[in-house]
Amino acid sequence: MSTSNRMPVAFFGHGSPMNTLESNRHTDAWRALGVTLPKPRAILMVSAHWYTEGTAVTAMDKPATIHDFFGFPQALFDVRYPAPGDPALAARVRDMLAPAEIGMDQEWGLDHGAWSVLAHVYPQADIPVVQLSINARQPAAWHYDLGKRLAPLRDEGVLILGSGDVVHNLRVMRRGADAAPYEWAERFNQQARACIEAGEHAPLIAYEALGEDARLSIPTPEHYLPLLYVLGAQAPDDQVSFVTDGIELGSISMLTCVIGPQ
Ligand code: ZN
Repeated sequence: MSTSNRMPVAFFGHGSPMNTLESNRHTDAWRALGVTLPKPRAILMVSAHWYTEGTAVTAMDKPATIHDFFGFPQALFDVRYPAPGDPALAARVRDMLAPAEIGMDQEWGLDHGAWSVLAHVYPQADIPVVQLSINARQPAAWHYDLGKRLAPLRDEGVLILGSGDVVHNLRVMRRGADAAPYEWAERFNQQARACIEAGEHAPLIAYEALGEDARLSIPTPEHYLPLLYVLGAQAPDDQVSFVTDGIELGSISMLTCVIGPQ
């Protein structure tokens, strides 16, 4: 079977919401990626910022732009990402994931995990976007399995994206553009990157067994789990490429990778 029409999958380390408005080496890399990616029929986005009891998909025609943060400049609250929804895709995702119960959500929309990245990758906002929430009650392996079950969407023109941060520790964050990375943050980011590159997913799923570096890098799982959806949807013959990387603010990883056909 030809795999030439199979969409890639991608994980974005979204970092600060301010990346939406900024032009830096990460946002430049995201923009360049948007130019080279095949244009999908729709996007299924797993964002760290929709972390829920149970699982849901956004099922409305016109998802609102959600400003789910505080203490940022007005310009960030003025951002709109007016991409349409795709209720038919939402229903397809619900059906694919049965018997897991998937709520058809009419309340959420697109949060900054989604639009801070999409504003650069697809600035026209003309591709329908559906968000899938992350079920806070489920273990890492369950999320990886959901990614596996969503993989057939890749052959239907759907781009599966995860948006989070491989390393995300706000408690010890350092301010300033030139803040030095913590050594544990760099070590864990490198370890995760090596596993992604080698297709070794088992240690990434069992990340809680990776010791102190992992514990500091993933104090809560919501920014890490979107990666597991993307890895779950990886096909055996896919190639991995890294779009951008680096630790910002001492403890936030910008690691962004695309996995797909050569
Ligand atoms: Zn975030």
